[in-house]
Amino acid sequence: RNFRDAAYISGQQRELIASNERLHQLSFLDPLTNIANRRFLEMSLVREWKQQTRANRSLSVIMIDIDWFKAYNDTYGHLAGDACLSLVASALKASVKRPSDMVTRFGGEEFCVLLPETGREGAIRVGRRMLLAVRGLQIPHQGSSVGHVTASMGVACCRPDLSGRYEDLLAAADAALYNAKSAGKDRIAWCCLPDLLAGTARGADQSRGQDFRVVDFCRSRNAG
Ligand code: GH3
Ligand code: MG
Ligand code: MG
Repeated sequence: RNFRDAAYISGQQRELIASNERLHQLSFLDPLTNIANRRFLEMSLVREWKQQTRANRSLSVIMIDIDWFKAYNDTYGHLAGDACLSLVASALKASVKRPSDMVTRFGGEEFCVLLPETGREGAIRVGRRMLLAVRGLQIPHQGSSVGHVTASMGVACCRPDLSGRYEDLLAAADAALYNAKSAGKDRIAWCCLPDLLAGTARGADQSRGQDFRVVDFCRSRNAG
């Protein structure tokens, strides 16, 4: 009898542990799109910042914002807008290949992709794949000049060090995204944070005052 009680209790405990784990997982999940949420992104950024500092490797992020999305909601309604967000999220997720790459919903119609051990070239390659994937969905959109749903992207990369902050990397990606928007949307812009480690190694204040530089645009239509 004692043995059976013990088995019963441990069964209950197991269920409790399982449901706790499930709740924990849910707290990192965006219910609409079924991808990770901003809380998960921020937790991962803290971890990857330290990890890549130790490994002296690059870290990239891509900020993504759906173009003309307010018009999409106004034309097709909020439920259609929600469905569109889910489709875009799936397309973005299907565009990354490494298990360590993270696609998250940043908020509203904005997504943020975290790419550990990835430099500028790699991040732009992923961004281009995502841009094409969103176009490839061919979701009709009257309010867009190209007639279907598109997204703009800002790529930022850096070599993290312990004096740097991941918020600066996000801000750089956001600034790049702003450039992609003002250059006409449906494209990628990128910028890189200066190599802070190299700057300190040289002992100079090498562009320390400047958080980032918008280096160039990558107009995906004419870039291979
Ligand atoms: P831009 O091309 O410059 O990005 O313009 P935009 O219209 O996409 O951007 P704006 O910030 O003006 O509008 C964003 C819209 O996204 C407004 C809001 O109604 C919609 N939105 C945000 N979150 C959700 C959501 O969860 N579901 C739906 N259906 N719409 C959302
Ligand atoms: Mg937006
Ligand atoms: Mg938008």
